[in-house]
Amino acid sequence: MWNRKLETLDRVELQALQLARLKTTLRRVYHNVPILKERLDAAGFNPDRIEKMASIADMAHLPFMKKTDLRENYPFGLFAEPLNNVARLHASSGTKGKPTVVGYTKADIANWAEACARSLAAGGVKPGDMVHNSYGYGLFTGGLGMHYGIENLGATAVPASGGRTHQQIMLLQDFSSRVLLSTPSYALNMAYTMTEMKVPRDSIKLEIGIFGAEPWTEEMRAQIEERLQITALDIYGLSEVTGPGVSMECAAGKNGLHIWEDMFIPEIIDPDSGEVLPDGEEGELVFTTILKEAIPVIRYRTGDLSRLNAEPCACGRTVRRMSRIKARLDDMLIIRGVNLFPSEIEKCLLSLEELAPHYQLVVDRKKALDTLDIHVEVSEHIGERFEKEFGEFEETHSELETLRRAVQSLLKDNLGLSASVNLKKPGSIPRSEGKAVRVIDNRLK
Ligand SMILES: [Zn+2]
Repeated sequence: MWNRKLETLDRVELQALQLARLKTTLRRVYHNVPILKERLDAAGFNPDRIEKMASIADMAHLPFMKKTDLRENYPFGLFAEPLNNVARLHASSGTKGKPTVVGYTKADIANWAEACARSLAAGGVKPGDMVHNSYGYGLFTGGLGMHYGIENLGATAVPASGGRTHQQIMLLQDFSSRVLLSTPSYALNMAYTMTEMKVPRDSIKLEIGIFGAEPWTEEMRAQIEERLQITALDIYGLSEVTGPGVSMECAAGKNGLHIWEDMFIPEIIDPDSGEVLPDGEEGELVFTTILKEAIPVIRYRTGDLSRLNAEPCACGRTVRRMSRIKARLDDMLIIRGVNLFPSEIEKCLLSLEELAPHYQLVVDRKKALDTLDIHVEVSEHIGERFEKEFGEFEETHSELETLRRAVQSLLKDNLGLSASVNLKKPGSIPRSEGKAVRVIDNRLK
């Protein structure tokens, strides 16, 4: 463990620490962020009431924050520090208009590096390890966030960033990296590229992969572990809360992600009523940052669905675990009245060995009716056999037609969804260089 004391506090001690840090944070935003002062006042939290908070259960009366708050106060309206105390800015990709901007004081960067070092250590990374970091460097928090964690831990950072996959694989071989950090879809892209390049597995020394920044399924984990012959672990974070390293799956338990609760207070709420749900129940994940200076967030609604688990873990950490993010509420597709997450489709597709884990979902509306086209590659094995037997890949071949029907009825039986399935030749679906584009929703155009 990187910080045994703070990772194994008993709950009474932890909650006392959380309450003290929460009060400091509330005072900070009350005095420095006018829009949050207004909201705290409206909810009855003046400085006197903040002082009198007796337990962190009182948090349930604090107002929520949402992504739209960051957008509406673009770029610096939610900052609680003057800009000359801000050492760094990051921003989320603004696919729709302006990005959301976050800032860090020097202390924020140090605390973030602490959270990332703890995360890496929980995944089995040790000082002296060579760590290949394929998260994007730039405004995105992934690359630089993990970079500082690697250095803080005393490991060696290879700041590869995304793209130029052939070169990355050469570096993995030449530097003998033991750890790979990337999105799960990019790890899979690397695995397939290695096969194409005929890179023998024993020429790379990878043992651990720490993957995040997009939701992924257990089925995807199985595929990555088999292909790369590594232990694949899940890391979670979002720029509004700090970036990567908010929580991390431990190698010992490999079941849920430990949240660094002395920095981030998690809650699970009913996304409709906003009511706090008990541990074990699924709902929307909400975070309050209690150490951040530049842009603290109070009860920030992540839009991610998860549940909390306070049961003891094999690794000995006492901080609670959150379940793997199955889906983001924003990603939910509503197709002809059926609510559905892309991860549910992924789970179905990856359960068939005839299919490869490369797929894309295209949603459209034709004559006022929603349509879903699923493009998925067949396995390399089938692809090669077709090449050999017929000299080419014929999408209309009767064997593929039978498989296509089987996939359609699997989706219908499991998800109640009628979709048109298109089986594609291996290598024909665009590969991820960072965050995968799984869904193309033409209805939004
Ligand atoms: Zn654990």
